[in-house]
Amino acid sequence: MKKLTIRNITQILFIVIVLAITYSKNATELGLIPIPFIGGASLHAICPFGGVETFYTFITGQGFISKIHDSTMVMFVLVLAGGVLFGSAFCGFICPLGTVQEWIGKLGRRLFPKHYNQIVPEKLDKKLRHLRYIVLAAVIYFSSMTFKLVFADYDPYFALFNFYTGEVAFTAIVVLAVVLISSLIIERPWCKYLCPFGIIMGLFNKIRIFKIARNTNTCISCKKCDKACPMNLVLSDKKTITSTSCISCMACTSDNACPVDDTMIMRLGGIGK
Ligand code: SF4
Ligand code: SF4
Repeated sequence: MKKLTIRNITQILFIVIVLAITYSKNATELGLIPIPFIGGASLHAICPFGGVETFYTFITGQGFISKIHDSTMVMFVLVLAGGVLFGSAFCGFICPLGTVQEWIGKLGRRLFPKHYNQIVPEKLDKKLRHLRYIVLAAVIYFSSMTFKLVFADYDPYFALFNFYTGEVAFTAIVVLAVVLISSLIIERPWCKYLCPFGIIMGLFNKIRIFKIARNTNTCISCKKCDKACPMNLVLSDKKTITSTSCISCMACTSDNACPVDDTMIMRLGGIGK
C-alpha cells in the first residue's frame, strides 16, 4: 500500500473537519445530537472565500453580506497569510473540493489511462483558464450589489457537503455533478477553469516567500516534472514556478517526479524567472 504523505493526511483531516461541521449544523436543525464544541456552526463561518465575497462591502464600511461572520474574516486573513508564505498551498493541501476531485481523478486515471488529463487541447485549455477571473469578478460584483451570498446557488463546495439538506440550490447540484463527472477525465476541472478562490490563491504564487524552484545547474531536462504536474504546467523551462494555476501540491518536487536530488525543490526565495 502507498504510504500517506503529509499532504494526504492534511487533506483527509480537513475533509473530516468539514464533514463534522456540516453534520453538526444539520444535526442541530434536524433535532439530532450535534458534536460538542462544534454545535451549529455553519460552513460559511469557516470558508475563507466568504471574505472575498464580502470584501467590498467590508472595506467600504457597509459591514458583512448575509451569512458572513467574524470567523469567516479570520479564516480569510489566515489563508491569505498562508498565501504569502506558501502561495496556493490552501488549494493543494486544504480545500476539500480539490481533494474530492483528486480522489475521483485517481479512478479516472485507471479507467482512462491514455486520455486522463490529456483531452483538452492546449489552446482551449489556456483560454478556459481565464474563466476563473470572470467568475471572481461576477461573484464580487453581484455579492456587493445584493448583500447576499449569490455564489452559494452555484457553489459546488457547499453543495458537496450539504446536498442532502434542503439548503442547496438545484443549480449548485448541477455544477457539482458536472465537476465530479469531469474529474474522471480532467484533473481538478473546477480548480483549473472556474474556481474564483483558486485564482486569488494562485496570484500569491507570484510573491510567495517559500517558492518552488528548479535548479538549472543540476536539471537534466528529462521533463518528468512536466508529466507529474496535475495542472498540466510546463515546469522544465522555468527557474521559479509562479503560475496562478499551480496548486502547490508539491508533486513536481517529489522524488518520484524529479530523478535528480535537490533539483526541483521548495526554497526560501527564488532564483529568477
Ligand atoms: S506539480 Fe508542482 S507546479 Fe504543478 S501544481 Fe503541483 S506544485 Fe504546482
Ligand atoms: S524532473 Fe527534475 S531533472 Fe527532469 S526536467 Fe524537471 S527539474 Fe529537470
